Amino acid sequence: FEDALVSQMNHALKKVDGTFRIRKEQGRIYIEMDGEYDYDEAVEALKCVFGIVGICPVVILEDEGFDKLAEEVIHHIDEAYPDKHFTFKVNARRARKNYPLESMEINAQLGERILNAFPETRVDVHKPEVVINVEIRNQINVYSTVIPGPGGMPVGTNGKAMLLLSGGIDSPVAGYMIAKRGVKIDAVYFHAPPYTSERAKIVAKYSGPINLHVVNFTDIQLYIYEQCPHEELTIIMRRYMMKLAEHFAKENKCLGLITGESIGQVASQTMQSLAATNEVCTMPVYRPLIGFDKQEIVEISEKIDAYETSILPFEDCCTIFVAKHPVTKPSLNVIHNDEKKLSEKIDELMQKAIDTVEVIHIEA
Ligand code: ATP
Ligand code: MG
Repeated sequence: FEDALVSQMNHALKKVDGTFRIRKEQGRIYIEMDGEYDYDEAVEALKCVFGIVGICPVVILEDEGFDKLAEEVIHHIDEAYPDKHFTFKVNARRARKNYPLESMEINAQLGERILNAFPETRVDVHKPEVVINVEIRNQINVYSTVIPGPGGMPVGTNGKAMLLLSGGIDSPVAGYMIAKRGVKIDAVYFHAPPYTSERAKIVAKYSGPINLHVVNFTDIQLYIYEQCPHEELTIIMRRYMMKLAEHFAKENKCLGLITGESIGQVASQTMQSLAATNEVCTMPVYRPLIGFDKQEIVEISEKIDAYETSILPFEDCCTIFVAKHPVTKPSLNVIHNDEKKLSEKIDELMQKAIDTVEVIHIEA
């Protein structure tokens, strides 16, 4: 897991100005910089790496006795906090137990020295504004800023899944959520031209590179449109989308499909519609947004900077063929019957869609 995390960090930092060296050490991962680098960019890049809980700019000191440590900590505070009107506590941890002072003693003695150096500060052990972390290892780590990371697990530690990526708000969020659990993402997009790959880039920022399968779906849609009742169009179309997605998923050794569906959001996402769509799949279908309201999905979309791109105008292949009154409670019997109206031609069209797929390698 740590190796996967380091490899994702390396990947994320590749685009950032500067030379970075990543080093692992018992429960911590260090990034060392040679010379100039862009701090803000580096932090932004790391905030997209799943598995990172927090990012701490750290001062690393040699152990040259407690007096020297106190001096350095006071110097650090002086530089980092020009205004000394804040409350603080010292939080010492000893990973190396042979240090002459115990953690509690370090907290008390260092706290006292800081108070003496900066009389404007105050100690608050319950809700301090600043926590001065001191980790005694072979060297000593001093840090007081923890920038939250995205959490989750490093991508690549949990297999791969095929994301059905549309032009809406939901599916990039669904991809984000499954990638957060360490799953590598491939994607399939059923398109009606013109097509842009902006949406896939949103997910790739977090999941790493994505192979996006762009499937020309227009002929299949037209044929269903000609043969089947229009109120069932969306459901039947979605069943064919799932079948095709599963084909590409198997071909690429994916262990499941991912969609942005949420119960009741639209006619094709009622419990009955989801059952009808799901029936054609043999693989597990992961629907991480299943219990979310639209507003909750929008909030995540904004948090991951996907929203701006997701609301750009876009001809979804589904919207072109949308019926005025789609069924909200499709019956499987009726769907099965109506699908019989599709001759072998549908298989030929499916094969053609498979044969003409265009795979685009997307990097953020
Ligand atoms: P989204 O906001 O993700 O577009 P939606 O609310 O528009 O979702 P639907 O159009 O019913 O909902 O699609 C439900 C799910 O089916 C999407 O979240 C996506 O996973 C998949 N999907 C829909 N259209 C496409 C498409 N053109 N290509 C690939 N996947 C699609
Ligand atoms: Mg959509």
